[in-house]
Amino acid sequence: MSAMIPVAEAVERMLERVTRVVQTEIVPLAQGLGRICAKPIQSPIDVPGHDNSAMDGYAVRAGSTQVGDQPVIVGTSAAGHPYSGAVAAGQCVRIMTGATVPTGTDAIIIQENVSVSDDGGSITINEPVRVGDNIRLRGADVSQGATVIGQGERLNPVDIGLLASLGIAEVEVQRTLKVAVFSTGDELVSPGQPLQSGQIYDSNRYLIGAMLQRLNIEVMDLGRLPDNLEAIKGALTDASTQADAIITSGGVSVGDADYTKQALEALGEVGFWKVAMKPGKPFAFGRLNQAWFFGLPGNPVAAAVTMDQLVQPVLAKLAGEQQQATLQLSATSAEALKKRPGRADFQRICYWQDEHGELKLKSAGSQSSGVLSTLKLANGFAAIEQERGKVEPGESVTVLPFSKLLR
Ligand code: AMP
Ligand code: MG
Repeated sequence: MSAMIPVAEAVERMLERVTRVVQTEIVPLAQGLGRICAKPIQSPIDVPGHDNSAMDGYAVRAGSTQVGDQPVIVGTSAAGHPYSGAVAAGQCVRIMTGATVPTGTDAIIIQENVSVSDDGGSITINEPVRVGDNIRLRGADVSQGATVIGQGERLNPVDIGLLASLGIAEVEVQRTLKVAVFSTGDELVSPGQPLQSGQIYDSNRYLIGAMLQRLNIEVMDLGRLPDNLEAIKGALTDASTQADAIITSGGVSVGDADYTKQALEALGEVGFWKVAMKPGKPFAFGRLNQAWFFGLPGNPVAAAVTMDQLVQPVLAKLAGEQQQATLQLSATSAEALKKRPGRADFQRICYWQDEHGELKLKSAGSQSSGVLSTLKLANGFAAIEQERGKVEPGESVTVLPFSKLLR
């Protein structure tokens, strides 16, 4: 068996191979949430489209307005109802927040800084006025032609609102990926069925499917691979013609009794790797017909960690999503953490800010790769470097807060 591959290299090797799917589609803006923008979007307009007032007050010409002046009110400019006339020296226009600044005026004096005459026909200026006071300039928010969303950005609620503010009703997005998920192993039983002696519930298929849903991927749940070489070949071949990727769990470790490996070797080019990570050492990657293949380890936490750390960046590239640098925090371990040099650990931990504002962490409990309940208790991983040994209390450790796949 080949040497262990560091995590970063495993990801790099896969990223080198995949390219984003080329198909895009146009969807109504309201259906764009969570979709990946296929082309940069430029603003077709200036926002705001007109110079407008930031306050309720009076629009004046600052250059010919002094304290004590008494300009005549010649009209009103309200939001959606601009004043259409021209304004001369010695005149002013009553103006409301958001209303267009009338032609000939260049400042808004707020209503608190004037006195209105008894007949309501004029005001007295009580404070100095400067050009530009309380005016929001055309294009100050977004100028026409500016790129507001980059290619590969996943649209969030703010993006949807921003595009609406520009009058954009449709967006071109990458097509949704379709991923087939299989489990392997005779011991597995679907939830809802009774357990016989020696059987366990199939959690990976649900866990992986749910993680994929977080990425807005269409999941094809194909159940458990049958326990027969020809049937496995048939099921994988079928899936490979329908899906962009196939994810299996289990059956990739050395000495595994099932047929998955044999079938994969016969059907496509799949590499069986030992990735220097814990949990999650056995991992397979390759291609079956048009589909990418990811073979995850069977232990549920190992399946979750390899999905998050190894598969997720590759699916993102395939989907056309620009990878964001993941947030890494540095925290002080409140306790000793067991670790042996040789593999990068992704330990389930809880991190928090103590009363002095210092970031601390402690183990979430059992680090066994079969124990899913401690993944539930954790809010992040301690990423302990491959060559590092035991962590002593008070030492600094890198924390990866859980990504949306695990939250
Ligand atoms: P394997 O790599 O197939 O030997 O699986 C390693 C461990 O993970 C075994 O204890 C399996 O029973 C368990 N396992 C494999 N697949 C699943 C699954 N889909 N759900 C829960 N546990 C699994
Ligand atoms: Mg198995």
